[in-house]
Amino acid sequence: MHEVRIDALDLERLAGILPPDRAEALRCRAVEAAQQLSGRVVWNINATAQGGGVAELLQVLLAYGRGAGVDTRWLVLDGDPGFFTVTKRLHNFLHGSFGDGGDLDAEARAHYEEVLAHNLRDALDRVRPGDIVLLHDPQAAGLVDGLTAHGALVAWRCHIGRDEPHELSEIGWSFLRPYVEGAQEFVFSRRQYAPAWVPPERLRVVPPSLDPFSAKNAEISGRDVRSSLLVAGLMADGSDGAGPAFERRRGEPGRVRPRASLMLDGPPVPEGARVVLQVSRWDRLKDMPGVLRGFTDHLGRLPEDAHLVLAGPDVAGVADDPEGAAVLAQCRDLRAALPDRMRERVHLTALPMDDVDENAHLVNALQRHASVVVQKSLVEGFGLTVTEPMWKSRPVVASAVGGILDQVEDGVSGLLLPDPLDLEAFAIAVDSLLRDPERARRLGHAAHERVLDRFLGDRHLIQYAEMFAEMIGG
Ligand code: UDP
Repeated sequence: MHEVRIDALDLERLAGILPPDRAEALRCRAVEAAQQLSGRVVWNINATAQGGGVAELLQVLLAYGRGAGVDTRWLVLDGDPGFFTVTKRLHNFLHGSFGDGGDLDAEARAHYEEVLAHNLRDALDRVRPGDIVLLHDPQAAGLVDGLTAHGALVAWRCHIGRDEPHELSEIGWSFLRPYVEGAQEFVFSRRQYAPAWVPPERLRVVPPSLDPFSAKNAEISGRDVRSSLLVAGLMADGSDGAGPAFERRRGEPGRVRPRASLMLDGPPVPEGARVVLQVSRWDRLKDMPGVLRGFTDHLGRLPEDAHLVLAGPDVAGVADDPEGAAVLAQCRDLRAALPDRMRERVHLTALPMDDVDENAHLVNALQRHASVVVQKSLVEGFGLTVTEPMWKSRPVVASAVGGILDQVEDGVSGLLLPDPLDLEAFAIAVDSLLRDPERARRLGHAAHERVLDRFLGDRHLIQYAEMFAEMIGG
């Protein structure tokens, strides 16, 4: 295991943009939590320090926790490729998808246990009895009993799930159940995700949130958006000066590094084009290939200046996602097979992960530059990639699945796709927003309000504080 450094963030930064009653509630709760938790560490254990929604959440929430005077810490599991193949399979099964087609058999279980036994030894050296431990997702589930026996207070937070049980999700749950049943608290992003055997008195529903000040979401001027994309070679007309500055999570300035092009196999987006964007990990369930087909199969209907950008992380940079390379390769093959005039309207980028703050800033710039942001997931735990453009007042077109349903009210704060596999409906929705900028603006405005209302960190931190207070019997 390794520990990820967390620098404190001042809660006042967040409080400053909240309505006064919410700001006050946050301050009061923070003081109370710091007192109640004094002398204890609040540990979080997950599978990766970067790439994906969980890492995104932990970076910010733990920093605010620290800012409030709570000793929050973050540990990342050690796993080998075999372990991540099993946990990715579990992830897919819980979503009702076959994934790599492999089984969750005795061999898979033995390897899962072996890797977690090794991690447990490491965790026991760091965690003290009485500490609180939040274990995230199936990867860390197998640590519940060992840490509980050690005297820690253990909650398991599951960020994924599906609304209706499915044959495969049941298999996934029977694999996991023996490991997590002993948790003191269960946290799900939606109530529907919790299997029936989770005792209701130990179940909490805590949707994710975003941080308006992180490099991912901070305000960027139109000029800086443009020059960030130009310098990184995501937009044509490259300049070779140093890119604009952004603020790193620890407060110091960062700069976008100049590059010839971050686009794979093709040119950057022409400057005047209107961008339809999906940002995702290269995960089958995000359906990047389906977005590509939806766009190109119906290109004739879309305005001529519409270009598609599919942006995901550099696949070497996300250790717990072994499918990434295959999905990215599939997208590259699909693009390569397109006739020239279609191919030049489709852009793929694998954003470098060696500098997570620069990566976040580039995602930010892409989202702000996009005319429409799509998220055509087949299933979705929550979908921060929907929350993020909503916060930026972008109009979104997203599948009516999972946590996206909690975020987007169809026709009010975005457009929902009832059937994510209906590519024509996808193209019609995108087209309708490109052709009606006034409506797109209205949806974007309502989207921002929706996030301000429900998906900022104050609600999330207060829910955590309430849970911790109950866990320690306060
Ligand atoms: N993300 C990123 N760089 C990328 C692709 C994705 O930072 O190249 C981020 C994205 O902005 C979002 C998170 O990864 O914050 C994905 O979270 P989400 O809840 O949408 O899905 P998950 O990946 O957890 O399934």
